[in-house]
Amino acid sequence: MNRAQTTLRTSVSIEGVGLHSGLPVQAHFRPAPADTGFRFVRLDHKGLEIPARLSSASTFDYATTLATGGVSIGTVEHLLSAAAGEGLDNCIVEIDGPEVPILDGSALPFVRLYHAAGFERLDAAVRPLELEREVSIERGDRSIRYTPGGEGLTITYEIDFPHPTVGRQELTWAVRPEDYAARIAPARTFGFLREVEVLRARGLARGGSLQNAVVLDDQGILSGPLRFRDEFVRHKVLDLLGDLALLGRPLAGRILARKAGHALHIEFARLLEEALGSPAARVAAASPDRLRRARR
Ligand SMILES: [Zn+2]
Repeated sequence: MNRAQTTLRTSVSIEGVGLHSGLPVQAHFRPAPADTGFRFVRLDHKGLEIPARLSSASTFDYATTLATGGVSIGTVEHLLSAAAGEGLDNCIVEIDGPEVPILDGSALPFVRLYHAAGFERLDAAVRPLELEREVSIERGDRSIRYTPGGEGLTITYEIDFPHPTVGRQELTWAVRPEDYAARIAPARTFGFLREVEVLRARGLARGGSLQNAVVLDDQGILSGPLRFRDEFVRHKVLDLLGDLALLGRPLAGRILARKAGHALHIEFARLLEEALGSPAARVAAASPDRLRRARR
């Protein structure tokens, strides 16, 4: 991961509806200097800034929400996953509503948007986060474990839903911009019809439809063909990468996640952050020499 930090070459915009609010929103992605990270700006709240950091992460109704001073921005994980997957480090996202648009339920529209803008290399190195020890969390049969080692980040995800279309799925993927767009980004969010009905009763999932999620009933899929046979586990990898982006810098090491979800992702990321702040942790920095090589 010895490369220069990046931002967008030019500003780009996208519009769509929020998954929960169902309201139309416009998002403008603007270039930002090195070490800005991702920051959301609520245009409809006097330009209040919400950093894409764990300290702002709040509620999780099948999505990750950030909040500062009582103002929130919801469903940030697909946009952040696309950035982490493609190697986009710094960006200001101005948005005129409470939620990032859900679009087709995957990260592919964000990848296309970033590619349309192009990437600009900045005069600062990416400093990956790396720990020297294991960190793990367990909640019944759900767990996530970090082990040090390897170049960059490798994610293994296992899910097991007692459903004829899903069942047990496992995927190991080394985070690489070269194949994020083909292997991970197109995987759509998924949900079970009965959960959708519960969310609707609570006034949520108003923007959810068969066009922006893989919806399952007890027998099969209501929303047409899958994009991958194992689209479900691929989307879990997508989500985890997006939630880990709240660490603020790319993580190096290996992660094994079993039957986890946003709430556990965030809890685990907080443990990692805590461990990174302790003396046992090590923060790897690219040397200027390596950076020069990466720029060629
Ligand atoms: Zn998702």
